[in-house]
Amino acid sequence: ELASWQAELRAQFPIVAAHPEIAYLDSAATAQKPQPVLTAVMDYLTSENANAARGTYPWATRTTARVEQARDRVRAFLGDPDPDRSGVHFVSGATEGLRAVARDWLAPQLRDGDEIVVPYADHNANIVPWHEAAALAHARGVRVTLRAMPYDAAHDYDAARLADLVTPRTRMIAATHVHHVYGNDMHVSRLRAAAGPGVPICLDAAQSAGHLPLSVRELDVDFLVFSGHKAMALPGTGVVWAGNRRGPEYTQAGWHGTPNTSGIVSLVAALDWLDAAGVDRIAAWTRDLGARLTDGLARLDAYQVLGCQGSLAADSGVQRRQGIVTFRHRAIGAHDLGFILAADGLLVRADGHCQGDQGEKTSSVRVSLHAYNTPQEIDRLLRRLAELNTG
Ligand code: PMP
Repeated sequence: ELASWQAELRAQFPIVAAHPEIAYLDSAATAQKPQPVLTAVMDYLTSENANAARGTYPWATRTTARVEQARDRVRAFLGDPDPDRSGVHFVSGATEGLRAVARDWLAPQLRDGDEIVVPYADHNANIVPWHEAAALAHARGVRVTLRAMPYDAAHDYDAARLADLVTPRTRMIAATHVHHVYGNDMHVSRLRAAAGPGVPICLDAAQSAGHLPLSVRELDVDFLVFSGHKAMALPGTGVVWAGNRRGPEYTQAGWHGTPNTSGIVSLVAALDWLDAAGVDRIAAWTRDLGARLTDGLARLDAYQVLGCQGSLAADSGVQRRQGIVTFRHRAIGAHDLGFILAADGLLVRADGHCQGDQGEKTSSVRVSLHAYNTPQEIDRLLRRLAELNTG
């Protein structure tokens, strides 16, 4: 049943249909786009393309309305319990979104002795902006301390150590939902439990939007940032959801500059597509594919999977790995492996994955999955990896 549901979804991706020789296994970098997203953009650009918020004619006023409606669409996608109070800001991706929260919202409020809890060995996009916020404070003579978030052995939030980390001076906890290298769905609830109600939490959902059902009510975070392009919208799209704090006075991509209107149109179509497909089913599908890959790799002794070892199927009870599996070959460098796989149409990511300085610095190969991927593609990859299972 899941298989026929998936076959229908897969058929909606023109790039997949056009390239039967390719297995696209790099969705954590950016996702492919289904036909309804492409059609929505084409329709918009060929029917009423105009700028927003400055119109005296229908194309412009309708574009303005589309952008406003898109904010509501994002709120609905995120299960926003209080849509009248939350700010939704359109940005170019998670990097710009996290920078906006850190530099434009947090930095001006920082006072001497304040503290920021930052992720450890997560994506640079969720580390550097918090350092920048502290640096901006320093530049006006305010001392701010950054505290690195400790993780436990499963690369999850460490409840016991978190309790010591959060103090009355904590002004922000910057966190990640699904790790972009280890693929695990982190227990965000442990952050709120440690922080109590008053401390803002900013969640980088770049790898969970479109991969896990998102509910800002359940997650209980104050800011949630994601990249639209990883959730099947066009490149150059992203979102800052700013809870009831409304968020940064962030104007570049807002009303005081030209918003990425066609990108926003694509984002609405992408969220519609994801909701119709069923994000929970996408999560189950890609988790199973990831487990198929980790199980296969466990039988090949030249490979070492990063993060938790062994089979990490959804119900393992140990950890909730999503459809991201990162590994190394004992003898073949990750870059070389990336080129070898690409020569066979197996498109993976092979480098350091923009992981923060404190992380593992050497390169690795990352396979990241989405709704269009199939067990056949995983098996094809495993066959190629088995041929290289030497050294
Ligand atoms: N955070 C995480 C966890 C990511 O995986 C990425 C993209 N690899 C980003 C942030 C940055 O996203 P973008 O490139 O869309 O700005």
